[in-house]
Amino acid sequence: MLKKNDIIPLVITDITGQGSGIGRVDGMAVFVPMTAVGDEINARILKVKKNYAFGKTESIEKPSDKRISPDCECYSKCGGCVFRHITYEEELSVKQRRVYDAITRIGGIRDFEMHDIVGCDSPDAYRNKTQIPVGRDKNGALLTGFYGSHSHRIVGSGQCRLQPEDFNEIVSIIREFITENGIGVYDEETHSGLLRHIYLRKGFQSGEIMVCLVINGTSLPHAETLVRRLTEYSSNVKSIMLNINRDKTNVVLGRELSVLYGSECITDTLCGLRFNISPLSFYQINHDQTEKLYALAAKCARLTGEEFLIDLYCGAGTIGLSMAKSAKRVLGVEIIPEAIENARENARANNIKNAEFICADASKAASELARRGTRPDVLVIDPPRKGCDGAVIDAAAKMSPDRVVYVSCDPETLARDLAVFAEKGYVTKEVTPVDMFPRTAHVETVVLMSKVKE
Ligand code: SAH
Repeated sequence: MLKKNDIIPLVITDITGQGSGIGRVDGMAVFVPMTAVGDEINARILKVKKNYAFGKTESIEKPSDKRISPDCECYSKCGGCVFRHITYEEELSVKQRRVYDAITRIGGIRDFEMHDIVGCDSPDAYRNKTQIPVGRDKNGALLTGFYGSHSHRIVGSGQCRLQPEDFNEIVSIIREFITENGIGVYDEETHSGLLRHIYLRKGFQSGEIMVCLVINGTSLPHAETLVRRLTEYSSNVKSIMLNINRDKTNVVLGRELSVLYGSECITDTLCGLRFNISPLSFYQINHDQTEKLYALAAKCARLTGEEFLIDLYCGAGTIGLSMAKSAKRVLGVEIIPEAIENARENARANNIKNAEFICADASKAASELARRGTRPDVLVIDPPRKGCDGAVIDAAAKMSPDRVVYVSCDPETLARDLAVFAEKGYVTKEVTPVDMFPRTAHVETVVLMSKVKE
C-alpha cells in the first residue's frame, strides 16, 4: 500500500486536461503535476485516497520527448500555465481529447463530426487583458503578481509571457509609482488599503491601451504623476481610469468608473468591424483566435442574408455584429448594461442597422421571447463557464431555430448542456475545439446542432 512520503519510480502514461501527468502503481492512479506522458520519474507521494494518490516529482530519470523546459520563473507557482512544460503540439492533442471525452462520456453524444483543434500561431503574448492583484508580503514588500494555483496568495512579479511586453512595462511603471508615492495597497484579510488590482487591456489591432486601477476608495493620490508617466511611456495609452470597488469580495471590478485621462473605452478592430470596449464589458482575450472562432461560428450558422439570428450572452455584440451583414436581422441579449451600451454603439459605429440589443438575463429573455412566439432561424449561445441553465435550453428549443451554434469555454458544462439539447430534439452535428488560451488549461469549443425534423 502506498503511503505519504513514499518515493516510488513512476512512468507517466497519461495527462489530465489540467496538465497533471498520471502514472499507475498496483492499479492505482498517481497524479503528478508538471509531468509529461513518457516521463520516467521518481515521485514522492503527498496524499493517498482510496483509488488514487497525489505526488510530486522528486527526480526525472528519463525525460519524455514531449517535455520542454518551462521558460518562466513563475510557472511552478502561479496557476496560469499548466502546459508550459510540454510541447505546444502535445498540449493541443490533450485539449482535443478533453473536448472529445467530455462530449462522448459526460454528454453521451454519438455520431457527430469531430474536427481538429484550431491551434494558435504564437502561443505567447496573446492576452489582450490582464488583472494583476496588488498586495504586500509578510515583510511588507510590494507584490504585483498572480494568484497561486487554488489560492489567494500573490506570486511572481506581474510579468507574464502570455501578455504583451507593454503590459510588463506598465506594471513596472505602476510599481515604481506606488513605491515613490507611498500608495497604500489592499489587504484582503483586513479589507483595508487602497490599491486592489491593476487591470490592463489592449486593442491588438488598434494598439490602444487601457489602464484601470481598481481601488478601495474614491480617489488616487498623485494621480496626475501616474497619468504623466503612463502617457509619456506610450501615446498608445488612450484611457486611464479608476474603478471603485469598496466591497469585501473576490470580484475584481466594482460598478463605478472615474476617468483620469482619455476616454472610458478603447477601440479595436475585430473581423473587420470597429468595437468600443468598456472595462466592464466582456471582450474575447485572444484577438487572432477570436477571428478564427467567429469565422467557425459563422460557418456553422450558414447565413444567406435571409435569417433572423439571436445572439444570447452577446457581450459587446461582437458575434452577432460580425454576422449581421449576412443575416436579415440580429437580436443580442446580455446581462451587463455597459456591454449592451457598447453593443448598440458598436452597431451604430459600423453602420449596422439590422441589429438590436436587449439587456436582460438570458433565461428570462429567452423564456419571454419563446412565450411571444419569436422564431429565430439561428440561435448563437456563448454562456460563461457554468453553461446555460435548463430554462435557457427549454426556451431555446421552444423558439425552434433550425440551427443552434453553441460557443463554449468549458467542455464539461458544454457536454452536459448538449445532452439536454439532445432530449429536446437538437442533435450535435459538428464539434471544433479552438485553442484561445495556449499554455493554460482552458479550451474553447464551437458546436453546431440541428433540429431533428419532425
Ligand atoms: N459572445 C460574447 C460574450 C461571451 S462571454 C463574445 O464573444 O465576446 C459571456 C457573456 O455572458 C458575458 O458578456 C457575460 O456578461 C454574459 N452573461 C453572464 N451571465 C448572463 C446571464 N445570466 N444572462 C445574460 N448574459 C449573461
